[in-house]
Formats: sequence, structure tokens, C-alpha cells
Amino acid sequence: MKGTIFDIKRYAIHDGPGIRTTVFFKGCKLRCQWCHNPEGIKFEREIMFRPERCAEECWDCVPRCPQKAINENGTIISINPKKCDLCGICEDVCAYEAVAIVGRDVTVLEIIKEVEKDRIFYDESGGGVTISGGEPLAQGDFLLALLEELNERSIHTAVDTSGFMPYEILSEVSKRADLILCDLKVIDEHRHRVFTGESNRIILENLRKLSKNGNNIVIRMPVLKGLNDDSENIQTMVDFLLPLNKSWQINLLPFHRGGEGKLKRLNKKNPLVDFKTPSEKKLGEIKDILSSHGFHVKIGG
Ligand code: SF4
Ligand code: SF4
Repeated sequence: MKGTIFDIKRYAIHDGPGIRTTVFFKGCKLRCQWCHNPEGIKFEREIMFRPERCAEECWDCVPRCPQKAINENGTIISINPKKCDLCGICEDVCAYEAVAIVGRDVTVLEIIKEVEKDRIFYDESGGGVTISGGEPLAQGDFLLALLEELNERSIHTAVDTSGFMPYEILSEVSKRADLILCDLKVIDEHRHRVFTGESNRIILENLRKLSKNGNNIVIRMPVLKGLNDDSENIQTMVDFLLPLNKSWQINLLPFHRGGEGKLKRLNKKNPLVDFKTPSEKKLGEIKDILSSHGFHVKIGG
């Protein structure tokens, strides 16, 4: 069995306890406008181009492209995604890492081989492996197979999910993962639909069900100025979470513009222009409100 991933990051310290290796699965059904991993949205492989890395008048890749998808205008090259068949030849040719095919098919054991390299750090720091994305539950069978291999090796596992998946798969994953990191973006359904393209009903219902099963959950709330940092959203979040489980930790993740450059490299429109990072004061206020209701709140991952 193979799954599609787009990255493996070692020495991660914001994706769960201790020092971790984060494996990023490719593909997600939500369309969060602020997504900082836009290369994880499409399930299919895609090409990323960083023109700023190009060497002056190099053009080595231009004649090598079998599809004639790369053009140069004397100053810069451009890649026509409609002609490109993702053969990867330009990635191999380029000595400057200016082009890359994002996404590769891997087996569970190939991932295990990679993450085992840092076992000593997991053991010493109380860390492990986090599976993120994209939406890892969207490749459910592959995710379950990976979790089983990690469990057999006694490596701590965390799964970072949007929660926007059928409960059947989430339930199976929660039985095998040590920790679920679940996003909670906006409680108001209309607002959620506007900014992610989908209703949040499944997500809220999934959290209710997880709370009944006593799962170990960290709620991750991306905080965006003007989108979900208002007192109405915070209060509805408190009202929603209070009956569930007060022992769940809430992580407030301030919006950052990390996705902006990636959107450009993927030749995609940038919807991030209107989003802003909340001030430290605002984050502190949100933290205080949530803490006053008994939640353990942390700013950051
Ligand atoms: S993408 Fe790489 S090979 Fe192609 S022109 Fe730029 S630097 Fe040269
Ligand atoms: S991946 Fe292949 S088809 Fe696409 S631009 Fe590069 S060389 Fe051309």
C-alpha cells in the first residue's frame, strides 16, 4: 500500500510534545483561505517554481522539457502547468533547486525508515511522530497502517486533523494514536462555510463524540484578526467546549503569512492579503477568557 506525502520535517517542536518528526500527507477537502500549507491541499502531485532561485540566464531546463512547457523570455522562465505532465526532468536538471515536484508516493516502511533516524530524540524528549497535512485522515487506510507500525515500535504518535472527516475513520484513528490535535476554527456555521468552503457541523459533532470516548485531544485554534478573534466567537467556543472536556488543552495559533510565498510558487491566487496576525495583547485576552473557564491554554503549538 502506498500513500502520498509532500514532506517529512525532522526536529519539529510545535506539533505535539517533545522533539518530533512530522509527516505531511497530501490532500485536503477543506479550503481554508489562510492555509499555510497550500501545497498540501491538492491530492495530486504538482509543480512548484521559485524564480528567485534561478541562476542568471541559465535556461538549462528549457530544452530538456519533453512537453515544451518551459519558456524563457530572456530574463526569466515560466512554466505552463497545462502542458506540464510532472515528469520531473526539470527538477533533476536544475542545479539551483528552483523547481520541485511536490508530492511523492511512499510505502509505510519507507516512512518508518525515515522517522526511525530520530528515535533517540523522541526517547530523550518525550517526543515522537506527528502525522499532519493536508488532511491525513483523507488517506485513512494508509494512515491506520502507518499508526500500527509506529505503535509496534513504541513510538509516540500524534495526528493533526481538521476534524472534517467521517467519525468512523476518526474513531479508528483515535484508537491507535496517542494524541489527536484537532482544529477548531470558527463556531458559527455560516462564517466557517465562507472561510473554509464547508460547514463545520461534522467537526463539532466529531468533537462531541470524541469527548464521550475520553480521547486525548488538543484543540488547535488558528487565530486571525477580524475573522475569529471577536468576543462572540470566543464565547461560543467556550459554550461549545465547556460541556465536552475541560482537561483538553487549547493551543492558540496566531496566523502567519507562511503560505503566501508557497501560493506564488504554486502559481495560485493569493487569498491571504486580507488576513492579519492578532496582537499579543489580543491573544493574551483570549487566553485569559478561556483560562478563566478552567481550560489549559497555550499560545503557540
Ligand atoms: S529552473 Fe533551474 S535549470 Fe531552469 S532556468 Fe532556473 S535555475 Fe536553470
Ligand atoms: S516536470 Fe517535466 S513536463 Fe513539467 S515542466 Fe518539468 S520537464 Fe517539463
